[in-house]
Amino acid sequence: MEPPPLGPAEIVVDLAAIRANARLLRATAGVALIAVVKADGYGHGMVESARAAQAGGAEWLATATIEEALVLRAAGVDGRLLCWITGPDADYRRAADEDIDVSAYSVEELDRMAAAYAGRAAPARVQLKLDTGLSRGGAPRAAWPALFARARAGEQEGRWRITGIWSHFACADEPQHPANDRQEAAFREGLALAEEHGLRPELRHLANSAAAILRPSARFDAVRCGIAVYGLDPAPGERTDIGLVPAMTVRAPLLLVKDLAPGDAVSYGQRWVAEQPTTVGLVPVGYGDGIPRHASQPGAADRAATVGIDGKPRPLRGTVCMDQVVVDLGGDRPALGSEVVVFGPPGAGGPSAQDWAVACGTINYEIVTRIGGRMSRRYVDSEAGA
Ligand SMILES: *Cc1c(COP(=O)(O)O)cnc(C)c1O
Repeated sequence: MEPPPLGPAEIVVDLAAIRANARLLRATAGVALIAVVKADGYGHGMVESARAAQAGGAEWLATATIEEALVLRAAGVDGRLLCWITGPDADYRRAADEDIDVSAYSVEELDRMAAAYAGRAAPARVQLKLDTGLSRGGAPRAAWPALFARARAGEQEGRWRITGIWSHFACADEPQHPANDRQEAAFREGLALAEEHGLRPELRHLANSAAAILRPSARFDAVRCGIAVYGLDPAPGERTDIGLVPAMTVRAPLLLVKDLAPGDAVSYGQRWVAEQPTTVGLVPVGYGDGIPRHASQPGAADRAATVGIDGKPRPLRGTVCMDQVVVDLGGDRPALGSEVVVFGPPGAGGPSAQDWAVACGTINYEIVTRIGGRMSRRYVDSEAGA
């Protein structure tokens, strides 16, 4: 269960939105959906997000680390589950016993897996990760023949079944970028080569959220969607409008309203100075709760992040502190305790996570994933009237 609250700010997650987004993505892609719930479900809660995505039709779940996958199993989440980050001491055996698909990047890793699975009755489930141009995880192209040969040999020895072959795009959010065509072509070559080595994976997958929506040719047997499951736009400015609904609202009470006279300066460094009489309000969220400190950029007050109070945008003023921020109320005096919507879906009365991303020079992924700290998390289900 959730720990007791450490402060007045909260994250509200609408499970109905996650279900609906999963349903939409599945219908849009027309193939299996792998819902990515790594990093505590991008800040939405891993276990609850996993269950909601499954209820929306996700056939698979995925985490980054093997430890995250084990947490899902310990919470009683079943169904197909993939992970792709395993440290040198990874417990491959335990993962196999928990029916988790692990990803192998190299012959050395397959050798370690073979040792871990020795004496196991049933073959483990192993997927192969190919590097097609991201130069992050996965086997580089020159290593594919040896990887496939070792993988096939392990199948014949009964150590594992190669259940999937997959790769990951570098530029899926820029659909015109030439790297997308190159990566997809490389992936197809990898699949053909794997087949020549006798491998018959049940799941070939390449697309993340952006590619799942924007690049039909990359859908293969399944799409691996994270950000879109939580209702955020994976490629702002592109044709991604399929009706996704943001699941997260961050809210806090207004703690204080005070008057400022011209010349009064706000917060550490006194970097914002009132030019005319105004009122400001105190909101108990700060960088200790995952609010980016550069949300209020000195000298860029016109681009400052805002929060919503009484349905109006209220810009942050001065430096974001660890535990609080000051917002400009422009002479208004909302009641103490008024709801401050830090961000949320349209209609919640505040900006979006995407608005915050723009103000902070980052992506919406980072805004929702880093939010937390002392905030408590509450789940609602707008379809159940909860
Ligand atoms: C995080 C991640 C995803 C999900 O990406 P989104 O853009 O959030 O859909 C898919 N695949 C891999 C390998 C990832 O690391």
